[in-house]
Amino acid sequence: MRFSALRILKEGLTGNTGWGPLWRTPEPKASYDAIIIGGGGHGLSTAYYLAKNHGLTNIAVIEKGYLGGGNVGRNTTIVRANYMLPGNSEFYSHSLKLWEGMEADLNFNAMHSQRGIINLFHSDGQRDAYARRGNAMINQGDDAILLDTQGCRKLLPYLDYDQTRFPIYGGLYHKRGGTARHDAVAWGYARGADQLGVDLIQQCEVTGFLIENGVCKGVQTTRGDIRAPKVGMVVAGRSGQVAEMAGFRLPVESHVLQAFVTEGLKPCIDHVITYGMGHFYISQSDKGGLVFGGDLDYYPSYAQRGNLPMAEHVVEAGMTLMPMIGKAKMLRSWGGIMDMTPDGSPIIDKSPIEGLYVDAGWCYGGFKAVPASGWCMAHLMATDHSHDVAKRFRLDRFRTGHVIDEESTGSQHNLH
Ligand SMILES: Cc1cc2nc3c(=O)[nH]c(=O)nc-3n(C[C@H](O)[C@H](O)[C@H](O)COP(=O)(O)OP(=O)(O)OC[C@H]3O[C@@H](n4cnc5c(N)ncnc54)[C@H](O)[C@@H]3O)c2cc1C
Repeated sequence: MRFSALRILKEGLTGNTGWGPLWRTPEPKASYDAIIIGGGGHGLSTAYYLAKNHGLTNIAVIEKGYLGGGNVGRNTTIVRANYMLPGNSEFYSHSLKLWEGMEADLNFNAMHSQRGIINLFHSDGQRDAYARRGNAMINQGDDAILLDTQGCRKLLPYLDYDQTRFPIYGGLYHKRGGTARHDAVAWGYARGADQLGVDLIQQCEVTGFLIENGVCKGVQTTRGDIRAPKVGMVVAGRSGQVAEMAGFRLPVESHVLQAFVTEGLKPCIDHVITYGMGHFYISQSDKGGLVFGGDLDYYPSYAQRGNLPMAEHVVEAGMTLMPMIGKAKMLRSWGGIMDMTPDGSPIIDKSPIEGLYVDAGWCYGGFKAVPASGWCMAHLMATDHSHDVAKRFRLDRFRTGHVIDEESTGSQHNLH
């Protein structure tokens, strides 16, 4: 089934009776050429690119819940380039390019919207830091424009520019950044993978590994053992737990991150905005809800919900920046489990067990990484070599000291 304007017209005229399910619901087979654990964005894109780029189609994605029920369907949907760090920058540049062709490639509308991201700054020192960040982005081949207060006022007239404590000095404008409908990204990759022959097995939890003489031969699941010579572990916030089942530890702590959405409003915010004096970022969804978030809840947890102090903190920051949002009613909030590494950067590498590969440590920025993570993890699993843009995402970098430090503060940023 291909989506096209003609098809939509035809279905509209014939009572929408011709749409089929987007993917099959197969029973798990006894063995595959490769298994991906985790039906989030990264697991599904890994399966898709394994099939599409490497011709490996006898694959299963094993998901303990439903496809897209994890962080991929819980995030605040921001897609952008990376800011500065070699190691991360080239990876995220690659990812942004893949985003730009993804919907055409998957023949699926993920509502990718390059509406631009503006990082606000509030002091001379912060302006210097953002100018440096912008220059690094341009050098990397991404885009950035430094706006002064007037430039910001033109684009974002509703902000409170004259607050005495943190007046807005300007912003760093990244035009190719924006948002995408998060669960549609999971559905698009799921449909694409299914069409290439990948079995998507939902409601099937991996409970252990079949390890023989130090080699991974498959997984134990709630629906029986499934064998495969290559197994990819792509379980985001559960990475530490699943690695423990295989008998090794990952340098990952799991923390809660919350997001919030208001009632639907008429279009009023047409960019993604980040506040430079507090951890607050906001955009407006196509349904009209203001979608915003802040910092981690700062205690390790596997609960997919957060606590009130962070909700209060986030809303306070929002009110400081744009008092008008005080009039909107907050509809919902939710949490997701973030797999935080000490340097804030991911891992795409072989594990200490032969045949078992790890894709983890996406912290609170892994949505924008979905295409490139799948691309690079598929490359690693198919060729046994790291992709050029993911070479620095090594598991042993915390032992050797070759870290890619996003903030130089470790995973508990507020404690440093
Ligand atoms: C509130 C919030 C806001 C965020 N905002 C942004 C943002 O604006 N921009 C951005 O780039 N990133 C953002 N992120 C981060 C981003 O969503 C994640 O880094 C990314 O989605 C993680 O990868 P994933 O999609 O594969 O994870 P998930 O969707 O969590 O996929 C992992 C899957 O593994 C499955 N699984 C776990 N254990 C097992 C098992 N034993 N057996 C079988 N299956 C298993 C889980 O059920 C889950 O479906 C945000 C995250 C949250 C929570």
